[in-house]
Amino acid sequence: MTQFDQLGLIDPIYRAVADKGYETPTPIQRQAIPKVLQRKDVLGIAQTGTGKTAAFSIPIIQLIHQIDGAPRHGKKLRALILTPTRELAIQIEENIRDYNRYTKLGHAVIFGGVKQGRQVEQLKRGVQILVATPGRLIDLMDQGIISLDDLKIFVLDEADRMLDMGFIHDIKRITKRLPSKRQTLFFSATMPDNILQLSQNLLHNPVRVEVETRSKPADHVRQLMYRTDKSKKIDLLQYILKEEQIETALIFTRTKYGADKLVRKLKKTDYRAAAIHGNKSQNQRQAALKGFKAGKIDLLIATDIAARGIDIKQLGHVINYNVPNISETYVHRIGRSGRAGESGTSITIVQGDEWPYIKDIEKLMKKRIELIKDHPYPQTEQTEVKETKKSSKPQAKGRNHGKKKSSHRWRSKKKVAQS
Ligand code: AMP
Repeated sequence: MTQFDQLGLIDPIYRAVADKGYETPTPIQRQAIPKVLQRKDVLGIAQTGTGKTAAFSIPIIQLIHQIDGAPRHGKKLRALILTPTRELAIQIEENIRDYNRYTKLGHAVIFGGVKQGRQVEQLKRGVQILVATPGRLIDLMDQGIISLDDLKIFVLDEADRMLDMGFIHDIKRITKRLPSKRQTLFFSATMPDNILQLSQNLLHNPVRVEVETRSKPADHVRQLMYRTDKSKKIDLLQYILKEEQIETALIFTRTKYGADKLVRKLKKTDYRAAAIHGNKSQNQRQAALKGFKAGKIDLLIATDIAARGIDIKQLGHVINYNVPNISETYVHRIGRSGRAGESGTSITIVQGDEWPYIKDIEKLMKKRIELIKDHPYPQTEQTEVKETKKSSKPQAKGRNHGKKKSSHRWRSKKKVAQS
């Protein structure tokens, strides 16, 4: 198997990688690093958790080191890495700091939601590698603080998520200002038509490198699920945390409101919990993430967008407090446990009407999720209706039937109470 010393890395980078404790390159690193070093454009189909950050950061550092070294003065912006979320941007920069330990290039990260002052100060000191989210980058370019004229390498990271988040116009504005002679690295977890088209506009004769797609969760994630009633979910969650002896976990909820509500409930237990979602300020989000990474917070409750790019070493447990209605989201969520060769467990709590989503997820993965039946909060709600779903007519009939039944039950209870 190819090792890091066979990828053509220079000694200072090789040592920095060894310091990180990496022993073997991941498949995307094996494929991409030599190609980037050969100055080829790359179309990378890979999601977070595959080691893709190092796959582009490491050769970029090496190339810029070879072009410019690390001059004291007059540093030029040589590489721009554009990524959709602040958390991901921060994480990429943290990785670059580590891989750049001995090469000492100037690097910085910029993102919105905080005042620009400190970021501008850093930029003025000279930056060779810049990690940015689109909005703040455009802002600073418009103010004349950032110029892309000397750029040699452009990375578009998580292109599909960029488009999902509505960044297409921002991307177009930015790419228009890139030098036409450049190297471009384009990463996306999926490759629908609009992404393929965007990649074709940006890349020149790219080498395609592909690792696992979102329909394939990491094999080393043990997947469990529990069925229960909506009203019993919090009790079941607490039972599972105890029973599985979970000390720390990332818990997904569907809504920001749901995340806050769960934090309030969990705070009444022995667990230290915090939420991370779009309604929190950037500082609150950072504090929660930092606390979680440092072990000061046991349970981090997140919505999907906010959790994008969260990378925590040895994330043992991921819990779905709500089943996502998009199957790929499930695969993406559970991919956060058991990253880069570690093993992990995902636990999904399924309330009655979420069962059809499970069927869709299993179909996508071509794999069954292990159902744990033996627990004190089994499902009692009527849900056969949605289990025999798909054909819309019988489903509608079934659903009405279910409703009638429950309202009938309610009425008869009331009658009893009145009598
Ligand atoms: P990424 O997909 O870039 O978000 O990386 C996921 C995680 O894998 C990060 O914590 C990296 O530090 C880690 N990682 C990346 N490459 C390797 C490697 N070759 N060996 C072990 N861990 C790695």
